[in-house]
Amino acid sequence: MNVPLLATIPWRAARQARLAPSRAAVLGRQFVDLLFPPRCLLCEVAEPPAGAVLMLCDDCRRQLLQGADNYCARCGAAGGGASSIAAKVSARDAGCVECRGRRFRFDHVVRLASYEGALRDAVLRMKHARDEPLAAAVADLFWYERAADLTTLAVDYVVPVPLHWWRWLRRGTNSPQVVGARLARRMQAPLADESLVRVRGTNPQGGLAAVRRRQNVRGAFAVRGPADEFRGRRVLVVDDVLTSGATADEVARVLKRAGASWVAVAAVARTPAPHLIGAAR
Ligand SMILES: [Zn+2]
Ligand SMILES: [Zn+2]
Repeated sequence: MNVPLLATIPWRAARQARLAPSRAAVLGRQFVDLLFPPRCLLCEVAEPPAGAVLMLCDDCRRQLLQGADNYCARCGAAGGGASSIAAKVSARDAGCVECRGRRFRFDHVVRLASYEGALRDAVLRMKHARDEPLAAAVADLFWYERAADLTTLAVDYVVPVPLHWWRWLRRGTNSPQVVGARLARRMQAPLADESLVRVRGTNPQGGLAAVRRRQNVRGAFAVRGPADEFRGRRVLVVDDVLTSGATADEVARVLKRAGASWVAVAAVARTPAPHLIGAAR
């Protein structure tokens, strides 16, 4: 009578066989790649360059980074063109033409690029569950482009701007959470994604005037973590798009009331239009 094959395999070898992809599996994947080459996550047509870490084609990558060059570290506005002279005047302290004279509760902004063109399309698509891999790729692109800036912040916590549970349920994904988790892992900083909650739903900010935007998010967030979790801490708030800054401002207000000493905002995209909130100084 034949001994069952499994009984003859030493346990260690069996475990290794389970962990390491078998040669057949690798060959199989290569064969599938040959038949169905991986497509760019954004255009879904072109192939990413061979060996690319990000599943984005060169053209889409270039378009996503349009207007990524200079930006104001106070408000995230593009620092090129007409505002470049102002932006160069100590962006960190004085701000740019868009934000000078405005006061924010957040202390610093890091952003990938302007909310237009390919990046706008990507941010809109990232709100849908099927495009979670695109959200992860955009987060990685953010990291590759801004690693030096993000690392210099030396934050203690990464906090994604919370989505109301109902909206999360309906969408099946939460792009600030996907981006925040990705950045936190890269920055080797703890993700405090359950410490800040949205306690009430808000109307979409789009189309609202600056004053209404501020009213709309007032009291929408609360800290739920352990007492003193944020006391004296440097916190990085992550959002997909920074528009008027009303949401980021409110989150920063709540975090600072909970003791945070410094709050920065990392936004994938920043709207180019000059409609910032922030109290006049
Ligand atoms: Zn593409
Ligand atoms: Zn500015």
